[in-house]
Amino acid sequence: MEPRHPTDVLRGLLGPRGPEVGCDTCFDELDRFVELELAGEDADAAIPGLRAHLEGCPACREEHESLLALADAERP
Ligand SMILES: [Zn+2]
Repeated sequence: MEPRHPTDVLRGLLGPRGPEVGCDTCFDELDRFVELELAGEDADAAIPGLRAHLEGCPACREEHESLLALADAERP
């Protein structure tokens, strides 16, 4: 198997029409997303499309909010 050109890999990751995050990806990445948010990092840049998914998906938005609340409760 030929090694793929980095541009092709990137294109594969981003997809033809920019990032599209589904619920599966959302659930996989949500922990990291919240960690980045809490760390003050640019979570939107790290996981493109996730916030857009949260805005359009009530189930994931609820999960996001509960993770934030949980992390908040764990803080001293
Ligand atoms: Zn979702």
